[in-house]
Amino acid sequence: MRDDSPNSWEARADAHSFYGFTDLPSIAERGTVVLTHGEGPYVFDVHGRKFLDANSGLWNMVAGFDHKGMAEAAKAQYDRFPGYHAFFGRMSDQTVMLSEKLIDVSPFERGKVFYTNSGSEANDTLVKMLWFLGGAEGKPERRKILTRKNGYHGVTAVSASMTGKPYNDVFGLPLPGFIHLTCPHYWREGRDGESEAEFTARMGSELEEVIAREGADTIAAFVAEPVMGAGGVIPPSEGYFQTVAPILKKHGIPLVADEVITGFGRTGSDWGCQAYDFMPDAIISSKNLTAGYFPMGAVILGPEMSDRLQAAVDEIEEFPHGFTASGHPVGCAVALKAIEVIMDGSDGAAPLIDNVRALTPKFEAEMARLAQHPHIGEARGKGLMGALEAVKDKATKTPFDGSLSVSERIANTCTDHGLICRPLGQAVVLCPAFIMTEPQMDEMFQKLEAALNRVF
Ligand code: PLP
Repeated sequence: MRDDSPNSWEARADAHSFYGFTDLPSIAERGTVVLTHGEGPYVFDVHGRKFLDANSGLWNMVAGFDHKGMAEAAKAQYDRFPGYHAFFGRMSDQTVMLSEKLIDVSPFERGKVFYTNSGSEANDTLVKMLWFLGGAEGKPERRKILTRKNGYHGVTAVSASMTGKPYNDVFGLPLPGFIHLTCPHYWREGRDGESEAEFTARMGSELEEVIAREGADTIAAFVAEPVMGAGGVIPPSEGYFQTVAPILKKHGIPLVADEVITGFGRTGSDWGCQAYDFMPDAIISSKNLTAGYFPMGAVILGPEMSDRLQAAVDEIEEFPHGFTASGHPVGCAVALKAIEVIMDGSDGAAPLIDNVRALTPKFEAEMARLAQHPHIGEARGKGLMGALEAVKDKATKTPFDGSLSVSERIANTCTDHGLICRPLGQAVVLCPAFIMTEPQMDEMFQKLEAALNRVF
């Protein structure tokens, strides 16, 4: 509970920090949790309380909060060469090596990488690349971006416009030309009597209709998360990408996979597009790219898009875009280490992705068990990302009402039980660190179940 003395950490945080994405009534009642350090998947606060973080920070701290190899890779590079940009004919050796590695581990046989500081900036960069390409290829009207309702792509004006969440209304977003298709969530969006195959076919027809209405020549790309993350962990309906990909191809519209969450193992496959068996034209990456040990994002262009962009840039001899810290050498050294830790195995330890695969059956079984709860309408997920959607009435899927969402109440109660998990809409989301052990997973589900039983 919050310490209300004037000099408490909670009061000091309130006084001088502007909270983003935070339910303020909960903070007013409970105080913000001020953290000091972490051990494996646990974090500790200024009062000495210990929390198991079922969120992995924000989907990203997959190697835990005290991974020695990650910290040492950062320190070694800080000692060697602490910072630089990747422009004006200069680039660090780490940046060169990371781009090679990224193309090597990507699903692309070849391609090119552009670095940013975040996933939002990577989406922004992608859109600028597409707009630039439209102009260079004599199609300046090719600017519209197709995404889906509930899709999350970031917070900059462009990436928030791509995001299909109603809360961006308060900013007067989306900007014109950002079109949100139906969320391919069969459980919530399927019509009475409609089979999953019929639902998926309807998603395809909707895409065809939108392309016909807008004109294929005005559409720059379709951008989709393989599994929606911040929309509430929503895997696509069966056959979704096999339905939309050929339609996009027929109309010459690039398919971009926003793999900020799903990239580097979260679903149990290296990439989410591999988990769902489709080949994108470009990939947006961040989060696991550095296992959360450095802020970094990347646009990874496949062969066709990188060839086209390179040809267009060659014409004007410069691509006028980039951030001060694009390709930061410490970020690149950290990313190289993160990829090694997750995909290859490092310092004698097995690759973390092996643990994702080993833990997934247990994770799925526990989710299915909690789905039996009378107020859990759906348990869904892929690999080590999952969500439990609370409903007032299971048969009719009627959501709870009330100013504090039920998922917020569950998450607050979890915090009281020493578990951090994330409320998203009416769902509670779990995305444990890849280093989690079986006993820690038991602890996670026991605490969540105790919280569910207290709330209902
Ligand atoms: N894209 C996806 C799929 C995300 O989940 C996120 C963040 O959660 C972003 C983009 C934005 O990344 P960032 O918060 O690093 O700007």
